[in-house]
Amino acid sequence: MTNAPLFPPTRAAGLGRLAAFVPRAGRDYAQGRNADPGPGARHNVSQLSPWLRHRLVTEAEVVDAVLARHSFAAAEKFVQEVLWRTYWKGWLELRPAIWDRYTTERGALRAGFRGTRDLARAEAGATGIAGFDDWAQELVATGYLHNHARMWFASIWIFTLRLPWVLGADFFMRHLVDADPASNTLSWRWVAGLQTPGKTYLARADNIARYTDGRFAPQGLATTATALTEPPPPAPAALAPGGDWHPDQPALLLVTSEDMHPESAFAATSPFRAALIVSAGAPGNAASQAFVAAAAADTAARVEAHFGCPATVVPALDAAALAAAAAAAQVTVIVTAAAPVGPTATALAAARIALQPQGVRLIERRRAWDTRFWPHARKGFFAFKEQIEPLLGQPLLL
Ligand SMILES: Cc1cc2nc3c(=O)[nH]c(=O)nc-3n(C[C@H](O)[C@H](O)[C@H](O)COP(=O)(O)OP(=O)(O)OC[C@H]3O[C@@H](n4cnc5c(N)ncnc54)[C@H](O)[C@@H]3O)c2cc1C
Repeated sequence: MTNAPLFPPTRAAGLGRLAAFVPRAGRDYAQGRNADPGPGARHNVSQLSPWLRHRLVTEAEVVDAVLARHSFAAAEKFVQEVLWRTYWKGWLELRPAIWDRYTTERGALRAGFRGTRDLARAEAGATGIAGFDDWAQELVATGYLHNHARMWFASIWIFTLRLPWVLGADFFMRHLVDADPASNTLSWRWVAGLQTPGKTYLARADNIARYTDGRFAPQGLATTATALTEPPPPAPAALAPGGDWHPDQPALLLVTSEDMHPESAFAATSPFRAALIVSAGAPGNAASQAFVAAAAADTAARVEAHFGCPATVVPALDAAALAAAAAAAQVTVIVTAAAPVGPTATALAAARIALQPQGVRLIERRRAWDTRFWPHARKGFFAFKEQIEPLLGQPLLL
C-alpha cells in the first residue's frame, strides 16, 4: 500500500487536483463546504491552498477552470472563497503596519509570555477539549486543517483558553503547509474581533458536532466572545506602483515562494539569461519548507523548458548570491514577480538596497490580477465581493 503525500509539491499535481475538483465546485461546494468530515474524507473542499498560496497554480487559473464548467451563479461561493485570499492580500498590502504590529507583538510574547505551560498544552493538543486537541495534532502531523476547524480552533484558543491570538497565529504559521501572512494573520484577527472591530467568532459545541458529523462534542467552551481591542488600524495607503522593467531588457529572473508560476507572469520571449529559484518556505515551518523546496525543483525544470535559460535553485534570498548570479549572466537587472507583505517582501526590499551600490536593479512586477483587485480591498469583504463579477469580466449567467 502506498502512502501518497497529501500535497504533492508539483504544479502538475496541483492542476490534477483542480481538474478533479472542478465538477464539485458549483452548488455542491456551496452546500457542503462547511462540513469537516475529517482526514481522508474531505471531498467537499478543494484542498488546493498550498498550490494557490505559492501561486504554483494561480487564482486566475482556478477561477477560469471553474467558470468554464459552471455558471457564475452556481460557482459564486467557490469563486468568492478563492477571492478571499486575494482580498486579504490586498487588505494587508494597503496596511503593512498591521503585519509589523503582529511581528513586533509576536517577538515580545515569544520572549516574555508567562503562560508557557498552558501554551505548550494547547500546542500539544493536551487540553482535554474534544476537537481542539485533535485539530492541534492534525495540524502538526499534516500541515492542514479544514477552514471551519481553523475557525473553531482559533475561537477556542482565544475565548476559552484565553491565550494570546498572536501566539495562536504563530502556531499556525509554524505548521500550516499553506502558511500565509495575510490569510492567517487577518483570519485570526477576524476571529478575535479586531479585523471587523467588535465582531467576533464564537465556536459553539452544537455547531462543531453538527459540522463534524458528531465526531466531536466539546464541553466547557466559552459562551461569550468579547472582542479584543487595539489602537485603530492605519487608513489604507495607495497601492505602491509596480516596477518599470522594459520587457526587451536582458535580465536575471528571480522566483520566490510567493509566485512559483513565472510562465504566466512573464512572456515566454522575455530575454532571461538565467534564473534563480529560491527554495525557502515559511520560516521555522518544516511542512512549508519541504513543500517549497520540492516545488522549487519543479519550477526550475519548468523555467528552463519555458524560457530556455538555465535555472539554479538557491536556499535563501541572499543579495550576494543575487549579485554573483547577475554578474555571471552579464546583466544589471533582476526581475521578479512582486511579493505581497511578509518575510519575502522584507527580504526583497533589503536585497534591493544592498544591490544598488553594485549597479544592479531588482525590479518587482505586480501581476495584473493583483493590480485589478487589490485597490478594492480598502473596506470590508462585503464591498469587495460586489466587485468580483464585474472585475472578472464575466457576463451574468443565470
Ligand atoms: C484562523 C485561520 C487561519 C487561516 N490561515 C490560512 C493560511 O495561513 N493560509 C491559507 O492559505 N489560508 C488560511 N486560512 C483560510 C482557509 O482556511 C484556507 O485557505 C482553506 O481552508 C484551505 O483549504 P481548501 O483549499 O480546501 O479550501 P477551499 O474551501 O477549497 O477554498 C478554495 C480556495 O479558496 C481560498 N480560501 C478559502 N477560504 C479562505 C479564507 N477563509 N481565507 C482566504 N482564502 C480562502 C484558498 O486559496 C482555498 O484553497 C485561514 C483561515 C482561518 C480561519
